[in-house]
Amino acid sequence: MTTARRRTIREVLAAGETTFSFEFFPPKTEQGARNLWQAIRRLEVLQPTFVSVTYGAGGGTRDRTVEIVERIATDTTLTPVAHFTAVNHSVAELRQLIGRFAAVGVTDLLALRGDPPGDPMGEWVRHPDGVEYAEDVVRLIKSAGDFSVGVAAFPYKHPRSPDIESDTHHFIRKCQAGADYAITQMFFRADDYLRLRDRVAAAGCDVPIIPGIMPVTQLSTIERSEQLSGAPFPPELAAQFAAVGDDPEAVRRLGIDQAADLCRRLLAEGVPGIHFITFNKSTATREVYSRLELSGNSAPITA
Ligand code: FAD
Repeated sequence: MTTARRRTIREVLAAGETTFSFEFFPPKTEQGARNLWQAIRRLEVLQPTFVSVTYGAGGGTRDRTVEIVERIATDTTLTPVAHFTAVNHSVAELRQLIGRFAAVGVTDLLALRGDPPGDPMGEWVRHPDGVEYAEDVVRLIKSAGDFSVGVAAFPYKHPRSPDIESDTHHFIRKCQAGADYAITQMFFRADDYLRLRDRVAAAGCDVPIIPGIMPVTQLSTIERSEQLSGAPFPPELAAQFAAVGDDPEAVRRLGIDQAADLCRRLLAEGVPGIHFITFNKSTATREVYSRLELSGNSAPITA
């Protein structure tokens, strides 16, 4: 498929438009791949600003990330953002990967340090010929070409950061290294995002911070969110889920309601966009999306 040049996230944000986007992960099985492409096609009709694909720590998943991003770039109308981590990569390998993305017209990368394979909180060991922090990844990508580059932000601070102050300081360094925008780790209370935005602004940094939203669709996603965000799920929300815990459909409905309320509040607060973490499923995300005034699109929702 030949497409007109896609706008980068940097360009969309600079135009003052509200972005909305979906995050996928590279599946490990054939069935997983079919589910992923079904979700991508179902979400494509909503014409999101971009879709992003996470980058795993292991070799096989990494190749799949690159293949999926390449296919999105060549076979769909979507703008792909490739998550790009420094784990177990030399600078030469990172450069090669940047070149591979550039060759298929990928202009947007999310620059991350990444977590060690296996245990995300295990010891982070820099590749002997690699880089140490996400800010180095930002510099590397920017030195390789005119890429639009995002970075990660953590409303509850990064689990490895000793305190909020150092976390904010290092976040701002990533921005000063050339990041065009940030996407947050998932969170469930608007105030947690707003506090992050306020402290970054107070430090004189105006890089747009896009909130990452994950609708809770089953109780196990709460536990997963705690592992990923390194923060406890808000107790007042946990109590609401516990009250309907033995009714899976009620849990799902509550999760959609909560995510839609959170997005509405954030949009009212003037966030630059909304980034949905989909876990490769389209239905819950489309239900939340349909309740927001992000566009007039009313594609029918079928499971
Ligand atoms: P950094 O910004 O380098 O920060 C890591 C830690 O080091 C922080 O505590 C920070 O404060 C500190 N630090 C930073 N710079 C310095 C410095 N100069 N001196 C001292 N300390 C410093 N992981 C994956 O493996 N694949 C993915 O696809 C992926 N996608 C993600 C998407 C989003 C939106 C988010 C929020 C996270 C994602 N992650 C992913 C997780 C991320 O890689 C991990 O949380 C990782 O541990 C930190 O990455 P970072 O880019 O924030 O690192």
